[in-house]
Amino acid sequence: MASHTMTAAVLRQIPDDRLHIEAVPTPQVSQPDDLIVRIGACGICGTDLHIMEGESYLPELPFVLGHEPAGTVVAAGADAQQWLGKRVVITLFTGCGHCPQCRLGDERLCPDVVSDTGVFGAWGGYAEYLRIHAAQAVAVPDCLSDIQAASLVDAGATAANSVRVAMTGHPKRVLVLGAGPIGLLSAEMLRSEGVAVQLTQRSPRRRAAAAALGYDVVGSIAETDGAFSAVIDATGSPDVFNDGVRALGPRGKYILAGYAVVPNADFAEVSHKEAEIVGIRSGSRKDLTNIIELAAQGRVRLPQIVTWRLAEINEAMDAIRGRKVDGKVVIVPSQGQSSRAPRGEKQ
Ligand SMILES: [Zn+2]
Ligand SMILES: [Zn+2]
Repeated sequence: MASHTMTAAVLRQIPDDRLHIEAVPTPQVSQPDDLIVRIGACGICGTDLHIMEGESYLPELPFVLGHEPAGTVVAAGADAQQWLGKRVVITLFTGCGHCPQCRLGDERLCPDVVSDTGVFGAWGGYAEYLRIHAAQAVAVPDCLSDIQAASLVDAGATAANSVRVAMTGHPKRVLVLGAGPIGLLSAEMLRSEGVAVQLTQRSPRRRAAAAALGYDVVGSIAETDGAFSAVIDATGSPDVFNDGVRALGPRGKYILAGYAVVPNADFAEVSHKEAEIVGIRSGSRKDLTNIIELAAQGRVRLPQIVTWRLAEINEAMDAIRGRKVDGKVVIVPSQGQSSRAPRGEKQ
């Protein structure tokens, strides 16, 4: 098994714009249902940056972020031996285990949630190794690499949950706001269901990437045709809600896949349409399994992925802050796998 210490990117204070690359104790199996995962890849999510800014969750410090890990199980407790050697991604939330939400597999909605791996309560995947409960493990098929699988852990589960909610209304046309990883994966899932999709995206580069995948993508909601059965808001921006509701048809669903405080929300428009607003918090185990399966079958194309080494994680975060990357950013702990183009070159 691994040595006693491992390299991790440690958050030492909040707010801070830097993680500290240092040696920390390697996690060990201590409970019968523990798994130790050797991280092959871990995606960066906007929530990581918000936590570091002090505008989101407040994990107990020091803390290791990273809630989009994928890797290989290298040690397992007595009750979880069947996972040894398997490649896995993880569900993030551990709940109380006995409330109605936990019993339905909706641990993320548990009122007494214990941990959200890499966000609070349990260290995450910006490290060489990660300890999880066996109940969190989801097998990854061989045809998906760790890097590809990591791009789906939160973005994919969120998209799958959003689309599941949209599909309950048997939508004819859906508008997806934002063509980042969550927006694109939502669009891909809708397309695989035979639903017509239009996308909005402000950044011309991201717009071009979506158009290259064959999407009808415009710069703003004002340029869309309106009367959509559902709008999936994957922008996380406070500026699109009112226009987004205006783009709905009667009894349309406004699906909030991002977290934003909207100061001047126009609820008159919501009432006039008897619109429904539904929040989305990541996804369930079933959502994650679903998107992993669709990706493995090639029915969902993955967003562009750019990798950085763990030692370069601050550089990767700076690139995201500076809006210099269009695709999904994934951290790899091992050496020699950085895929990003040299500075100034087009990715
Ligand atoms: Zn996230
Ligand atoms: Zn619970």
